[in-house]
Amino acid sequence: MSGTVHIIGAGLAGLSAATAVAEQGAEVAIYEATAHAGGRCRSYDDPALGILIDNGNHIILSGNRSALAFLKRIGGDGQLSGPDSATFDFVDLATDQRWRLEIGSGVIPWWIFSRARRVPGTRPGDYLTMARLVLRPGNGTVGTVLPCTGALYERLLEPLLVATLNNDPPAASARLAAAVMRETMAAGGDACRPLVARDGLSSAYVEPALAYLRARGAEVHFGHRLRRLAFGDRGLEALDFGNAVVPVSTTDRVVLAVTPDAIARLMPDLPVPSEFRAIANLHFRVERDVDLPVTGVIHGLTQWIFSFPGRLSVTISNADAVLDVPREELARRVWREVSLVARLPEDLPPWQVVVERRATFATLPEQEIRRPPARTRHPNLFLAGDWIDTGLPPTIEGAVRSGENAARLAAA
Ligand SMILES: Cc1cc2nc3c(=O)[nH]c(=O)nc-3n(C[C@H](O)[C@H](O)[C@H](O)COP(=O)(O)OP(=O)(O)OC[C@H]3O[C@@H](n4cnc5c(N)ncnc54)[C@H](O)[C@@H]3O)c2cc1C
Repeated sequence: MSGTVHIIGAGLAGLSAATAVAEQGAEVAIYEATAHAGGRCRSYDDPALGILIDNGNHIILSGNRSALAFLKRIGGDGQLSGPDSATFDFVDLATDQRWRLEIGSGVIPWWIFSRARRVPGTRPGDYLTMARLVLRPGNGTVGTVLPCTGALYERLLEPLLVATLNNDPPAASARLAAAVMRETMAAGGDACRPLVARDGLSSAYVEPALAYLRARGAEVHFGHRLRRLAFGDRGLEALDFGNAVVPVSTTDRVVLAVTPDAIARLMPDLPVPSEFRAIANLHFRVERDVDLPVTGVIHGLTQWIFSFPGRLSVTISNADAVLDVPREELARRVWREVSLVARLPEDLPPWQVVVERRATFATLPEQEIRRPPARTRHPNLFLAGDWIDTGLPPTIEGAVRSGENAARLAAA
């Protein structure tokens, strides 16, 4: 392909698009508003804890084929760690019951017929509701397809769906819930191994991508916030960054991999998702490493616990309800739960609360229809991002896949 592909936004969608274009040997220039890449998926040095932490715990599953292909392309795949099989530990704080869910590796879910392996308190017939969701989600909410009550819901579907949809499942889009189930649980345990960036998000997803781009001669510009798109007779003709204007030649293509609010300013006629949900992460510095697998917590404020060297971290998705809780009170309440689960002393260790208020768009059916496709009405302008119409929820997999797709369209 001749000409340059200009990519705006160096989150995972932008990095995915840029590296996919560079892989084909085409010229790439990437422009990012802030001083760093990674967007909502990155690491930073936290002054309160004195260690490197991630803006939020991020988990992918072994069935996330685009995310894994991206990591393989940039050489970040060796940074992921996780169990050899699809196992998830759970603790129910209301009953102190603990169990390990082990999803068998094959596509046929034999594990649901084993009382020892399925979710405690469930029967094999309960799992038919999951098949109904996958096969006939319709265009409405999860609540219209599934009974959002009972042991299977409380102990498996709710934690899984809150984490992947970042929303209250009964109100969330059934189509997106079905997409998650289809690519993970319904594909068998080989698609469900949880994978976490052992040494932080940036060293797996971001730094290798930037190194990959630089090694291929790509231009990487930080501190470049796109202010205006200049359209003319032949479509998009220039990118206005305020302090610099970059002409778009007849052979160039542009991919906007920015956030929906940025698109709303740049292209005010295009409907984009307009409602968002928060995610809160709490990080606790611990003296000794705690060997805790990724653990789901039922009937707590805590939803998932992750262990890293010298740190335990908690994720609370769909977290708008905790935004008004004073930070220290939140840290105390969550640590009390973590100390019960991990059997640690109750004294609050050094902590940090990181809240992303607009972590993802709200995965409601009425927001889902506001997701635009990758093609715009301008032939040289394409969109990428976890919020465009990928058919997937706003996740790493969705962001990376949107970038791959935009790169394919830009090269065509
Ligand atoms: C706390 C938290 C936890 C999460 N946990 C998970 C998880 O466990 N698993 C999972 O799969 N996903 C998770 N996600 C979702 C995942 O992080 C996102 O789906 C993904 O990072 C989105 O990437 P993106 O490139 O689409 O958007 P962004 O990361 O938002 O990137 C957009 C980029 O564009 C830049 N930009 C914006 N405007 C302009 C402009 N005008 N000019 C130039 N640049 C601009 C921004 O600075 C940003 O760098 C989580 C998200 C959060 C916030």
